[in-house]
Amino acid sequence: MEIENILQKQRDFYQTQQTHSLAFRKMYLEKLKNLIISNENKLYEAIHKDFGKSKFDTFTTELSFILNDINYYIKNLKKLSKPKKVSTNLVNQLGTSKIYADPLGCVLVIGAWNYPYQLSLSPVIAAMAAGNCCILKPSEIAANTMKAMASLINENFPPEYLYVYEGGIEETTALLQLRFDKIFFTGSTKVGKIVYKAAAEHLTPVTLELGGKSPAIVTKNANLEVAAKRIVWGKFLNAGQTCVAPDYLLVEETIQEQFLEMLRKYIKEFGYEKDSEQYTRIINQRNFQRLVRLLDQEKIYSGGQSDEAKLYIEPTILHHVDWNDEIMQEEIFGPLLPVISFQNYHAALNAVLALEKPLAAYLFTNNSEEKESFTRKLSFGGGCINDTVMHLSNDHLPFGGVGNSGTGNYHGKYGFETFSHQKAVLDKTTWGEPNIKYPPYSEKKLSWIKKLL
Ligand code: NAD
Repeated sequence: MEIENILQKQRDFYQTQQTHSLAFRKMYLEKLKNLIISNENKLYEAIHKDFGKSKFDTFTTELSFILNDINYYIKNLKKLSKPKKVSTNLVNQLGTSKIYADPLGCVLVIGAWNYPYQLSLSPVIAAMAAGNCCILKPSEIAANTMKAMASLINENFPPEYLYVYEGGIEETTALLQLRFDKIFFTGSTKVGKIVYKAAAEHLTPVTLELGGKSPAIVTKNANLEVAAKRIVWGKFLNAGQTCVAPDYLLVEETIQEQFLEMLRKYIKEFGYEKDSEQYTRIINQRNFQRLVRLLDQEKIYSGGQSDEAKLYIEPTILHHVDWNDEIMQEEIFGPLLPVISFQNYHAALNAVLALEKPLAAYLFTNNSEEKESFTRKLSFGGGCINDTVMHLSNDHLPFGGVGNSGTGNYHGKYGFETFSHQKAVLDKTTWGEPNIKYPPYSEKKLSWIKKLL
């Protein structure tokens, strides 16, 4: 079926208002949950074929998120969609004011390849919970997971409600010509701009979940063992192909040597060897070659091995890195960790401030003043103090970027709000209203109005 026809069918179906019913939403959320559980092995196989991602990582960083999201929305749907009563100002007495969470209509979700299930299905689940019809366009770069999601959904859901459209740039370009009620995009800043421009043609609201260079800062006041362990985990998870991975390290000069040694120790301990079934591969040749080009042999502190046939790049630390080095000019999105040392903590924060606002930022310290200036001074999507990546596992926190790293957010109630319109309704009584707002006006009325407003 042509995608225009599917969208038209979704429009017609949306008009029937069936998606407004909470029972309808819950039924399909349950259905998706059961399908994911019963097809778990197929989902593991597909992602393993795409880039060797292990069962453990796929469950902990993808499927568990999706299942938690579904459970959260099923449990909280009534509360989230209940009209919220707010106070009514003096001039509108006697009346009541409420905010209704209205579904937006027919929405488009465009996914990225690096966490293909989570980044495609989490927004879809939020869109379903908020009562929308949805077309999902997963990333063609992770071709097997795209196919797995297409068969899971298209064989089990009515296309007029939920549909997976497979395709790459050409198909996405065609999709972007159509008019949606919302576009939720996850991917690069470059493509985010293309999506934003296309959406502007129809005045379609967008959420853009983009990337950037996320710093991790380690001061002499940190618990260095804990910092090293958590940075190594967050950086090399998914072979560094994580939007919120620490992109580069800023380390206080006096502890640099000791700290790099600890990083090396944890890399070894976690066993990211070439034949490890637990270490993810680079997604494709193009990215492999891009990453290898960033490897400055002179600056390798540890690691540096790679194998193109196996799309393997060893977790690598680069030291004596300079802000002008090539590796500091773009988001790395791979298992290379450049380290820059600093003498002055505030100068280090200023250096981060001079760059585009990152999606994430991490600080390792036990000093409360350092924590305070990190939180107050830097602008970033979200982050952690004394950890990496984990902030996005707390669905009480909004997840999204700022500036070049994105606009809008989701997760938990924020996802529901992202796919809802806050419709404001004032309900007035038809009695008891003074005449002063109506013409003909007079000085006396104006003086009363001045007192009232
Ligand atoms: P990408 O921008 O290349 O692709 C994302 C999507 O856009 C894909 O579905 C793709 O088919 C489509 N696309 C690609 N080029 C297009 C074009 N010219 N016109 C229209 N559509 C196009 O991103 P990617 O390589 O899949 O993901 C990597 C990037 O995404 C990194 O920058 C990373 O930081 C970011 N990212 C952000 C988040 C987040 O939650 N903020 C999560 C994961 C990845």
